[in-house]
Amino acid sequence: METTQTVVIGAGQAGLSVGYHLTRRGRPFVILDAGRRVGDSWRSHWSTLRLYSPAGYDGLPGMRFPAPPFSFPAKDDVADYLEEYAERFRLPVRSGTRVRRLSRDGDRYVVDCSVDGRDDRRDLRVECENVVVATGTFGRTPSVPDFAADLDAGVLQLHSSQYRDPSQLRPGRVLVVGASHSGGDIALEAAQSHPTVLCGRDTGQIPLPWESRRLRVAMPVLWFVWGHVLSTRTPMGRKEREAARHHGAPFTRVKRADLAAAGVERVTERMTGIHDGMPVLGDSRVLEVENVVWCTGFQQDLSWIDLPVTGPDGWPLEHRGVVRSQPGLYFTGLSFQSSFRSMLIGGAGADAQYVVRHLTSRSPASAQAESLSGAAGAR
Ligand SMILES: Cc1cc2nc3c(=O)[nH]c(=O)nc-3n(C[C@H](O)[C@H](O)[C@H](O)COP(=O)(O)OP(=O)(O)OC[C@H]3O[C@@H](n4cnc5c(N)ncnc54)[C@H](O)[C@@H]3O)c2cc1C
Repeated sequence: METTQTVVIGAGQAGLSVGYHLTRRGRPFVILDAGRRVGDSWRSHWSTLRLYSPAGYDGLPGMRFPAPPFSFPAKDDVADYLEEYAERFRLPVRSGTRVRRLSRDGDRYVVDCSVDGRDDRRDLRVECENVVVATGTFGRTPSVPDFAADLDAGVLQLHSSQYRDPSQLRPGRVLVVGASHSGGDIALEAAQSHPTVLCGRDTGQIPLPWESRRLRVAMPVLWFVWGHVLSTRTPMGRKEREAARHHGAPFTRVKRADLAAAGVERVTERMTGIHDGMPVLGDSRVLEVENVVWCTGFQQDLSWIDLPVTGPDGWPLEHRGVVRSQPGLYFTGLSFQSSFRSMLIGGAGADAQYVVRHLTSRSPASAQAESLSGAAGAR
């Protein structure tokens, strides 16, 4: 068993930003991450994924994104940037360490993990005063409707988190379910080689050619709106939070016209069930397809937190990341934690700073002496 003042769970942009702010305040902590390498959650996305946010808005605190401000980094560039960030600020990340259970023993938190070594797996328990959960904006558990199990065995099913490129698809028609960012991107790509249908509610589109010079003028305005208008401090923001968490976001780079030009059949009906092994849409139409790609998002699975922290919708009961019912427990990186910016790379730093300020005000600096053996150099 080891002890430290703060355990951060997750070494994505949110957890690393918390690490940056804790380091600046000289606080002892460790970041535990299930992945093999920092940035792996980005590396695992589909091959052609490029950010829709320009590089000038993709920096974490203390280090700008190393690309021209109005370029659009590829997913592996983001992964490498995160890895370099952790190295530059000597953040104590322990990779291959999955947290299996978070519980409490009096006023201390108990973090039980399994550590994947090269040849073995061992258990680790860390005790601490504070825990910051930074395990993903929407969670990491693919969200797929229950009726997916009734699809014909001959239909290839992939969740967007499993999709890499069209070579995975079987010859024949593709149904992409869910018409937000990933659905738009994947349908556009699949249509180059397969007849493709994209179904799902129309979540709108930002009326701006994304890679045009007009974005240079519009982006500062959008950034302001995403941070200060669509914020949990405004009624409009609180309404938008529900939509952002439970429905898709509007198209940015890929527009309706791009999909039409690529030959994607766009159906605004939702998929409602299965008939004889084939997908049924809301208008009762049965589609004969060979492939279904579920772009239906992710869900929070916080069942490993053995504390009453979630509401009926499965999301944590927190305010700007602070869990009032469990002093010392925090979340960061949640969709709409403080504003629309919270889910973006460029928004991670401000939310992390708020959480760290709160955390350091409750854990006096004198507790620094109680440092995790080896945490400072742990990688
Ligand atoms: C397809 C797609 C496109 C996007 N495009 C953009 C974009 O253009 N611009 C932008 O700003 N944002 C974009 N985003 C949104 C956002 O940047 C991501 O959601 C981001 O990855 C969230 O970072 P995070 O640190 O909160 O979580 P993650 O990056 O998911 O990191 C969470 C980490 O926690 C670890 N973890 C999870 N559970 C455990 C556990 N029990 N124990 C230990 N470790 C655990 C995981 O291994 C992972 O490393 C996009 C997201 C997606 C999915």
